[in-house]
Amino acid sequence: MEMPSRLRRTVALLGLCAALIAAPAVPAAAAAEPVAPRTAQAPVVTTEQVMSHLRALQSIADRNGGNRAHGTSGFRQSLMYVKGVLDRAGYRTSLRPFTYNGAVGYNLIADWPGGDPNHVVLVGAHLDSVEAGPGMSDNGSGSAAVLATAVAMSRADVATKSRLRFAWWGAEEPGLIGSKDYVQKLSAAERKKIDVYLNFDMTGTKNIQQWLVVHNDPRATDTFEAYFKDKGLPTFDIGIGGSDHVSFGDAGIPVSGFTSGVGDCYHQACDRIDNVDPQTETVSTNAILGVTWQLVTG
Ligand SMILES: [Zn+2]
Repeated sequence: MEMPSRLRRTVALLGLCAALIAAPAVPAAAAAEPVAPRTAQAPVVTTEQVMSHLRALQSIADRNGGNRAHGTSGFRQSLMYVKGVLDRAGYRTSLRPFTYNGAVGYNLIADWPGGDPNHVVLVGAHLDSVEAGPGMSDNGSGSAAVLATAVAMSRADVATKSRLRFAWWGAEEPGLIGSKDYVQKLSAAERKKIDVYLNFDMTGTKNIQQWLVVHNDPRATDTFEAYFKDKGLPTFDIGIGGSDHVSFGDAGIPVSGFTSGVGDCYHQACDRIDNVDPQTETVSTNAILGVTWQLVTG
């Protein structure tokens, strides 16, 4: 497919994020199902409600040698920050440790009480940065957007039909280590219970031209596309792309999600909070919230 060179570069770089270029074995899309009607309107997250989390992650990097990479105090403090917010919001949280490259890493899993535990909608983002910088676009932005979504769900006291679960992955940057570990440790029966995994890796990119939507699970993909169309926001079908959702797709679990793409300062020391566009970050957060709301209540 022809696409503008700038976009082609973006798509190519998305694979580099996880140093994972090979085409993953993702199951063929099943027959499309109609999108379920909303049972109620999703709440709206303000810019302050999402950017406050990003400021917290920047401060943690600043206090810990300028990064939040796997195996560092910056990562562990990021983890404790996110867990603290979730615990106060009423989530059941758990840390899932794994070892990589001689250091212990963690995934953080958070369940909202209620909903059918045999039908899980899982929403996640990687929390680690590279060692070169604080990782505010990649992926403080996705981590903060998913956290603000979780808090908004709690404030709305959402009554879900499906089980609503959130995840923050460790050690994505060295090669999807945390998400792979999580999926590998699930039994076949537990994998089957995950109806869809939605991934968010970079959501506040400056000078965004379009939202790059992962096309796999038909219902989630259609719901994202319909959401953006309704807001008059442009999208581009990136197929699968390369981030933690590949760990799920490789295990036969349907996936979707989106990214706002790779911007300046990618994997560099200048990927600071001023490398994230607050308006794009807010739009992305409300897209995650709006779509997740439809999927868990419909
Ligand atoms: Zn990333």
